[in-house]
Amino acid sequence: MVDKDCIFCKLAGGEIPASSLYEDEKFRIILDANPATKGHALILPKQHYKNIFEIDEETLRDLIVLGKKLAGIMKERLGCDGVNLIQNNGEAAGQTVPHFHLHVIPRYADDGQDILWKPGISDPAVQEELVKKLSF
Ligand code: AMP
Ligand code: ZN
Repeated sequence: MVDKDCIFCKLAGGEIPASSLYEDEKFRIILDANPATKGHALILPKQHYKNIFEIDEETLRDLIVLGKKLAGIMKERLGCDGVNLIQNNGEAAGQTVPHFHLHVIPRYADDGQDILWKPGISDPAVQEELVKKLSF
């Protein structure tokens, strides 16, 4: 399903022009309009899934394989020193466009970006409770 009011559906479907790096039946890869670093790209499914809870497993598998390919291409052709694959779900997690997408962000030793989190301190009782709650 495509959402006619969704900007990423329009970009993925080619209805709005984008800096497109790759396209197949299920996906389009575009450059992010506000790149965190040089080469920051987004992998967009052509179907509209809001987030990780909606996307099906087969599409997700294909998408992560594309992420791996693109990361290799970035390493080879941009000479980046590392790559972040980041995927946000929900406003609280930083998602601003409610159409599932995977950020593929080349990292350079001197890129000045601060993408990772501040480490917290774990509490053994809370950790134990979490193991009970989240084990599956
Ligand atoms: P997120 O915060 O994970 O939802 O990421 C949304 C990303 O989409 C941001 O990095 C934006 O810079 C990017 N973005 C928003 N609109 C466009 C657009 N029209 N073309 C390319 N990238 C976009
Ligand atoms: Zn959409």
